[in-house]
Amino acid sequence: MDHPASYRGRRVVVLGLARSGVSVAKVFHSYGAKVIVNDKKEQDQCPEAEELIALGISVLCGSHPDDLITADTALLVKNPGIPYEAPPIRQAAAAGVEIVTEVEVAYWLSPAPIIGITGSNGKTTTTTWIGELLEAAGKNPIVAGNIGRPLCEAAVEATKDNWLVAELSSFQLKGTSGFRPRVALLLNVVETHLDYHGGMEDYIDSKAKLFANQTAEDTAVLNWDDPVCQQLADRLDATIFPFSLYEKLSFGVAIEPPYVRTAASASSGEDEAAEVRHIVWNKQDGTQARLLEVGELGIPGRHNAANALAAIAGCLAAGALPEQLIETLRGFKGVEHRLEYVCEVNGVKYYNDSKATNPTATMMSAHSLTAPIVLIAGGLDRGSDYMELLPLFRDRVKGLVALGETRGKLGHVAELAGLAAVQLVEPVEDAEATLREAVRQAAALAAPGDIVLLSPACASWDMFTSYEQRGRIFKDSAHTL
Ligand code: ADP
Repeated sequence: MDHPASYRGRRVVVLGLARSGVSVAKVFHSYGAKVIVNDKKEQDQCPEAEELIALGISVLCGSHPDDLITADTALLVKNPGIPYEAPPIRQAAAAGVEIVTEVEVAYWLSPAPIIGITGSNGKTTTTTWIGELLEAAGKNPIVAGNIGRPLCEAAVEATKDNWLVAELSSFQLKGTSGFRPRVALLLNVVETHLDYHGGMEDYIDSKAKLFANQTAEDTAVLNWDDPVCQQLADRLDATIFPFSLYEKLSFGVAIEPPYVRTAASASSGEDEAAEVRHIVWNKQDGTQARLLEVGELGIPGRHNAANALAAIAGCLAAGALPEQLIETLRGFKGVEHRLEYVCEVNGVKYYNDSKATNPTATMMSAHSLTAPIVLIAGGLDRGSDYMELLPLFRDRVKGLVALGETRGKLGHVAELAGLAAVQLVEPVEDAEATLREAVRQAAALAAPGDIVLLSPACASWDMFTSYEQRGRIFKDSAHTL
């Protein structure tokens, strides 16, 4: 697409009336485009509609009208969650109408350089961390995107003295064409969201769009421990800035001495305590800056060490100095619902990791904790068999309390792993009561010194409106045991 100013007098359709849709509609309206906003939901379920109607923007709710995409439609801005099979999107594609998401619009609007962060896991943690680090480095960051605030809204507010710190999902990136972040981070790629993308290829291609318009003046921060990220490096025009937990990099952000990649060390976490490891920046001129010890990082776990390396690389690429980052690397407290310490009851510590919505995330979190774990898991069934959790159930988990649609599948894997303490929580009156019951059962299985960890490995939508709701009920249940 082009700058929104070039759509003056032209028809722009905005599909989906979430906060980002409102923000996009207002932008195009302010530039004099003929904006039509459409949402399948009934108008009484779209409280945002009123504000737009008051501005004189057409809002059509309740269905997708057949004549929504007309011959003179210049652009379709779709909500990232709407599948590409939806009729108006198919019609637009067939008519040759350009289809973008709100982040593409934000790119054209932003006078500030953008640092874009994507990956299967760790986006919000790394984005939040980068926001705090760049603040400490005096770079005036504005954090937005998939993390909550629409990127467009932030872009309108930004000046050239800011940095837009943008968390980006594969859904958002799939709908970009000219988007060009000054600094782009790809944290990792694992199988997820295959229902939306239809396969790994489309998922990886969507992630790779983050780098598509970068040139050698821009930076691509890549996880050198992830084969997909490494393979991508050959395809990119950007200057590559790698980070690694396991390799001695001649250039990049790394650990000294590097971790040894063995199944045992990755799962026990014991070697982390045994040896002092430093985070270092190996510069292109052959010199090195030592930042701090891994053990000094504000949040635990090897995955969070990887997030720290990524955040450091991103901030250095944005012009921060290493010494400006150290205090915030130490002081960072993490983000709610991500391996969040809740409380201790009868000598048992409770952790809320409700955001772990896939098995990889659950494994990472469980391996970050050293005490015996009673795991509460289960949720929306997306068709996976969860067999990859078998080693976790065999080696790291003392008991499993499974709930939600996947409880039977998880119970089966636990049985195969030889786990003796397995409880399937059948639904009681409502979702909240079921989770409260699960917490009670987990508490009964745990002994002093153990950990009760909610890390579901599944999305929450079979029972809850969001992972946040699930996490809050868990925390309240733990506090009131
Ligand atoms: P995202 O925004 O990508 O969903 P979050 O930062 O919200 O990621 O973290 C979600 C969960 O993913 C965490 O609770 C943790 O279990 C796991 N996780 C975080 N960072 C990583 C990482 N770098 N690699 C693998 N898993 C991770």
